Amino acid sequence: MSQSSYALLTEQDRDTATMKALMFHGPKQISVENVPIPKAGPGDVVIRVTLTTICGSDLHILKGEYPVKPGLIIGHEPVGVIHEIGEGVTGYQVGDRVLVGAITPCGQCNFCLSGNWSQCGGAIGGWKFGNTIDGAQAEYLRVPYAQANLAKIPDELTDEQVVLLADIASTGISAAESADLQIADTVAVFAQGPIGLCATAGARLKGASLIIAVESDPVRTKMSKQIGADTVLDFNQHNIVQEIKRLTDGRGVDVAIEALGTQATFESALRVLRPGGTLSSLGVYSGKLSIPMEAFAAGLGDHKIVTTLCPGGKERMRRLLELVRHGRLDLRPLLTHTFPLERITEAYRLFGERREGVIKVAIRP
Ligand SMILES: [Zn+2]
Ligand SMILES: [Zn+2]
Repeated sequence: MSQSSYALLTEQDRDTATMKALMFHGPKQISVENVPIPKAGPGDVVIRVTLTTICGSDLHILKGEYPVKPGLIIGHEPVGVIHEIGEGVTGYQVGDRVLVGAITPCGQCNFCLSGNWSQCGGAIGGWKFGNTIDGAQAEYLRVPYAQANLAKIPDELTDEQVVLLADIASTGISAAESADLQIADTVAVFAQGPIGLCATAGARLKGASLIIAVESDPVRTKMSKQIGADTVLDFNQHNIVQEIKRLTDGRGVDVAIEALGTQATFESALRVLRPGGTLSSLGVYSGKLSIPMEAFAAGLGDHKIVTTLCPGGKERMRRLLELVRHGRLDLRPLLTHTFPLERITEAYRLFGERREGVIKVAIRP
């Protein structure tokens, strides 16, 4: 429904107005359905979603590997236009174009005020959309704590230029930030999926001297070089640890970024690290993760291991928007396919099966 046709509705019609949304009904059960348009309560804003995408974590939800409650609308990467403003939200107008991060901190709890926005209210608590509240794969989305979470999009930027900032860019770039990457540091990035590619871009933005990516998929290898990797090593063709040691004159890298979430990549990341280096982990692990003693110098190697959940909030989004606006970051090549919301289940299949050289799919409600 367009903005103007909505305005012509009476109050009563609005109470029964519906939208299309992707509903999660349990593992392997998703469908596009008509559901009521959300309403803005105090502190909320409802946006009309103009572009969104599908994340690797949505695939985990679909497979039942990450539990969310049936009946939820999933998705957490929204770009949209303000449709309704709740009580107490100031500085915004209906019609403003906004980007909202995948993580929506309240900005007021102890965790937020300690600077751990993503852990708002407790572990992983900042991730609300499509996890604990209805998400973005819908025509409309209720944004909680709107005052802390709506970043206005500069007029000159298109939806396609900014949609990947909500999650994968914020997450990927954070790997180099959390590692406190120094100018001229050498970096290895394990896996070049959407987040790993953004980690490569982040290492370049932070001033790495040498970026070695590890990936075997030819499409991702090509994109990795395009986005900033100096060398991409195929783990089917190289002994990765030996080769990275060789490329760093035997020292090992200053920063190793793990962007997959497996024992093998975590362990390799640790093995290629120089003494005193930092392993920056972005992967989502399942089961048990163990640390081999010799790679960890028996705990005496001055290694640092840091983890980061996607930084969110409007200031984070504003900063990422500025990177795009000033030409430092262009993620449009990662949007390899576009689908209308009505056909999002096809997009899930394509993305999940990694067919047709897909990296990210744009979903247009
Ligand atoms: Zn995500
Ligand atoms: Zn909070």
